[in-house]
Amino acid sequence: MSGFFAPLARLLAAFSIVLSMPAMAQEDGRWSIAIHGGAGTIARDNMTPEQDAAYREALRKALDAGAKVLREGGTAMDAIQAAIEPMEDDPLFNAGRGAVFTWDGDIELDASIMDGRTRDAGAIAGVRGIRHPIQLARKVMTESPHVMLSGEGAEKFAAEQGIEKMPSEWFKTERRRESLKRMKTEKLSAIDVDVKFGTVGAVALDQDGNMAAGTSTGGMTGKRWGRIGDAPIIGAGTYADNCSCAVSATGWGEFFIRAGVARMICARIDLGNEDSQLAADTVIAEVGEMGGDGGVIVVDRSGYALFSMNTSGMYRGRATSEGLSEVAIYADE
Ligand code: ASP
Repeated sequence: MSGFFAPLARLLAAFSIVLSMPAMAQEDGRWSIAIHGGAGTIARDNMTPEQDAAYREALRKALDAGAKVLREGGTAMDAIQAAIEPMEDDPLFNAGRGAVFTWDGDIELDASIMDGRTRDAGAIAGVRGIRHPIQLARKVMTESPHVMLSGEGAEKFAAEQGIEKMPSEWFKTERRRESLKRMKTEKLSAIDVDVKFGTVGAVALDQDGNMAAGTSTGGMTGKRWGRIGDAPIIGAGTYADNCSCAVSATGWGEFFIRAGVARMICARIDLGNEDSQLAADTVIAEVGEMGGDGGVIVVDRSGYALFSMNTSGMYRGRATSEGLSEVAIYADE
């Protein structure tokens, strides 16, 4: 939304929370969703037509699942979960099944979710064996007094909540095993070996005017010492606030944490009276100046779904109540 109206929106939203009403219901049934499946060095030259088609099909499936929830009047929280879960199951993406390997050949998953209506949030970091990390992040939000749980504690909480587990081999794919092997034998960095990030995320605005954001990832190939990236950090990889926007990021996590990317984009829109695309582009440019790369998906209060990246591509898609429905891969699409 235009920055001019943001302070007014905050005031009205505060009012509606006091009155226990959904924040600023849309009168026109407007809804909007954007998804990503990672950014990076994704060029037409290094994709076969089959790979290109497979990614588009997987993105389409996730986008349609999220859009269906919104079209039928469901919540933004349910929509982003519906969009993220199929990507967590799809080995094409670095989340859930098909996640990248740690240095020790394990798989450790990070995820977060945020409800823009209340700014409640939940996150998990470094967990093993959870089929849908986004589900667990949501449980942390709704069923625990905390925002973030990690490692064994988070796994114990998952068991108590009856969250679905899978054996470790289910998550491991040959392609990711190969990346770790190359990294070790050729002494490559995580960036060199992956050239693309495959984290998944979704952001949405529902017909009641509520927003949500979620992100799920395996992190970066060869991560060590319990490394945690930006994806589970509220304000870095994920942020949602009904008064401004919902953001999910993908990229070189250390830079996204240092720049506080997701919160910064929302703050620029909310407090800085900035156009949403300009806000996202400015923050991504800042990440670039610091030496990092990646991208974000954003849905703003007006329902505008947008992307920003400083990489040659980002697996992505967006759909709105106005009839827009598209998936894209390369930056120039
Ligand atoms: N941002 C993720 C991380 O640093 C990586 C990714 O986007 O794929 O853990």
